[in-house]
Amino acid sequence: MFKKWMMMIAILLYASLTACSSKAPKEPEMANQGSYDVVVVGSGGAGLAAAIEAYDAGANVLILEKMPIAGGNTTRATGGMNASSTKFQQAEGIVDDNAIFYEDTMKGGYEKNDPELVKYMTDNSAAAIEWLNSLGITLNSISTSGGQSVKRTHRPADGSAVGDFIVNGLLKQVKSRNIEIRFQTMATKLIVKDNQVVGVEVESASGKGMIDAKAVVMSTGGFGANFDLIVKYRPELKDYVTTNHAGATGDGITMIEEIGGALVGMEEIQIHPTVEQSTASLITESTRGDGGILVNQKGERFTNELLTRDKVSAAVIALPEKYAYVVFNQRIVDESKAIEKYTKQDFCFKGTTIEELADVIGADPAVLKTTMDTWNEAVAKKEDAAFGRTTGMDFGQEEGPYYAIKIAPGIHHTMGGIKINTNTEVLKADGSAISALYAAGELTGGVHGGNRLGGNAVTDIMVFGRQAGLHAAAYAKEHGAVGHVNQEKPNQGEKELIKKDLPATFIDGVYMETVKGHNADIVVEVTVEGGYIVKIAAIENEETATIFAGVEEQLIPEIIYQQSADVDAIASATVSSNAIKEAVQKVIEKAKR
Ligand code: ADP
Repeated sequence: MFKKWMMMIAILLYASLTACSSKAPKEPEMANQGSYDVVVVGSGGAGLAAAIEAYDAGANVLILEKMPIAGGNTTRATGGMNASSTKFQQAEGIVDDNAIFYEDTMKGGYEKNDPELVKYMTDNSAAAIEWLNSLGITLNSISTSGGQSVKRTHRPADGSAVGDFIVNGLLKQVKSRNIEIRFQTMATKLIVKDNQVVGVEVESASGKGMIDAKAVVMSTGGFGANFDLIVKYRPELKDYVTTNHAGATGDGITMIEEIGGALVGMEEIQIHPTVEQSTASLITESTRGDGGILVNQKGERFTNELLTRDKVSAAVIALPEKYAYVVFNQRIVDESKAIEKYTKQDFCFKGTTIEELADVIGADPAVLKTTMDTWNEAVAKKEDAAFGRTTGMDFGQEEGPYYAIKIAPGIHHTMGGIKINTNTEVLKADGSAISALYAAGELTGGVHGGNRLGGNAVTDIMVFGRQAGLHAAAYAKEHGAVGHVNQEKPNQGEKELIKKDLPATFIDGVYMETVKGHNADIVVEVTVEGGYIVKIAAIENEETATIFAGVEEQLIPEIIYQQSADVDAIASATVSSNAIKEAVQKVIEKAKR
């Protein structure tokens, strides 16, 4: 009898197992990786500005960044940030008006721009300069760039590249507020419930997961490094180099499109006229804005160098050789750290005299000499009879040494993208807004119309990034935001600070080590308490903040978690990582019981 029962059970068990295996395997449950008032996706200029504003408005904020470093394309912005009616312009006696800035932007974009967005951006540009200034990010040196009728391109006083300067400054603010950034964490999908966005799905080394949010800000940047999308909208650009960082793949555009967000102007892709082709390095427009000229292979000028980017690009492409040289002298180099950097690269040619430079680049010395003399006369008379240039003519290039960089156009900025209104709400095709979803920065479309003016991208990301943060925080507040409570424990994710069951091995104390970093020596302070390493701080360091952020957010917590320097270096910050690991290893040897 017992045997019979056993047989029956075995048969039933087999039947139920085979029945199960004929079904599709069940998707594993996604781990919940936290709950926040505002989740900001992307840590470029727009995302960082949004995160700071949302935090300051009382929200508890998480930033997701798929790359190991912060900053995206923003760190590549060199020229400056356009703004009108600023106190810095007034200090220099520059008379400007928001309405003129509006007109320049609309004209530059062939009136294809969204007028309301442009009006909001230009009216709020001075406030954004002021906000940055209040955070210690001062852009008080004023230059010009193509398509501006007034000098309004704001830059750091020391001539540093504007993008890095802003990102470093904003990152410091993010840190001082303990706003959590999760690097190498890619948002893959927006979660929608009852017609509103309630979170994001993510992928990271710890697997797939979901994060709840009362409101989401999408600031994932453009698609200038996604050739499938580029070719889909502009097949003729398939062989161009791109100046974009590898993460500019239009993820946010795809994710928002999937939930019904409308797109605008996707075919409006800007090519930048001056890109050094072997390295895809962008040669900033301010090289011309500060007085540089463009010459063809013979050594002749062929265009007004400060026309809008599309026109200058077209003029280069129309040359039989399809490339040109940007020529500038030592005075221009001395004005700008960004330009000074070019002169240290292999691609920059140099001559003590203009004739010597011509020899080096294979141009005709007599022709290039005549070109430069004629240009210097035009600057002196403030009249460019040849091409009608009227800006970037404060100084001629009378004295050497002279420099030249061979350039041709490259893909630079994707002007189309997600349709938003002035509150940065994401709109559907019928004009209604998707609840709890905000977007700012290069993933949006409409601000720049058919052509973006140099210096307007930074204005766009700052003005609308701030706006997105404020609106997302306000929405979260109306829908039960919890505020800063969870903000006290930054950057630990779901992990404990120190791995369970590790022995307390070290002698308590504060240890100092000096090690060689990427840019200079780093002084590392390691604190041991209760036998455990509890804190590692690079108290003196000149590493690039965007790169070092990954070390601080990921490598250091991992060392503390493992209580060991034997952890993986952060990709793309290997020198800084190894320096910290070396310092900790030295301390471990000294502090062993
Ligand atoms: P903007 O400042 O105009 O928003 P940036 O290119 O400066 O544009 O910054 C966008 C940032 O978003 C980049 O750092 C990029 O790596 C990041 N990013 C892009 N896609 C994702 C994604 N799916 N998840 C998380 N971060 C992303």
